Amino acid sequence: MSELLLKGKTALVTGGSRGIGRAIALAFAREGAEVAIADYGDDAVAAEAVALLREAGSDKAFSLKGDVSDPEFAKACAAQMKDVFGGCDILVNNAGITDDGLLLRMKPESFDRVVRINLNGAFYMTKEISALMVKARAGRILNMSSVSGVKGNAGQANYSSSKAGLIGLTLSTAKELGARGITANAIAPGFINTPMTALLTEEQMARSVAAIALGRAGEPEDIANLAVFLASDLAAYITGQVIAVDGGLVL
Ligand code: NAD
Repeated sequence: MSELLLKGKTALVTGGSRGIGRAIALAFAREGAEVAIADYGDDAVAAEAVALLREAGSDKAFSLKGDVSDPEFAKACAAQMKDVFGGCDILVNNAGITDDGLLLRMKPESFDRVVRINLNGAFYMTKEISALMVKARAGRILNMSSVSGVKGNAGQANYSSSKAGLIGLTLSTAKELGARGITANAIAPGFINTPMTALLTEEQMARSVAAIALGRAGEPEDIANLAVFLASDLAAYITGQVIAVDGGLVL
């Protein structure tokens, strides 16, 4: 049998209770990593995710409850990762929200909130967790961007700004921390079946799927497969990249 890709590694996945984050956390656990999730959502959903992580092989899996847009929460996450796992080899900045609306009607508060969670949150986490990685002279940072951040999307000025910002954060992180053995990459999912996209109307879904070369929405596991690869030693020489997993939506 081949060796597990993340054996002996430790990981923190924000927004890991459900959707894409949960699929990534579970894929990491199946590949031998010890995994923690950080999420502000429903306690029962987080508890279910932790139970699944333990079943998948992460015996010490735990969840941290809090809001990634609070810099103090990022500090608490780093402290817990150090205490429970002795550090953090892999950080996935996946927590994110949408609050769609046309530009002319979008309230400044909506813009601020989406950017604060999706972008500032990733910065706070990167700042605190990379301090642990610098000490270890190794680490992997994955930022969950979006095709909306690469190409823009009508009705998503707040969201696409935050996701484009994440690409800038990824590039600067890759340049600044590369010499310390840390890689940073962004994943740009297209249209993926999760509780987030379940909020769309049937018409919106049909329109999105019609633009996809492969003719179907993606599954969270499609994203998790790339996340495992980028977090593993196989991707040791890949940094500062934005990789789309979109079934050919952006062609
Ligand atoms: P989801 O809504 O199903 O899950 C997001 C998770 O993040 C939830 O558990 C939620 O509680 C958590 N979260 C949100 N804000 C948080 C905060 N401030 N602090 C802590 N936790 C928070 O969404 P998803 O579809 O799984 O999306 C995951 C990521 O992938 C997001 O960043 C999203 O923007 C991105 N993405 C999704 C799609 C898609 O089609 N689903 C496409 C492109 C990018």
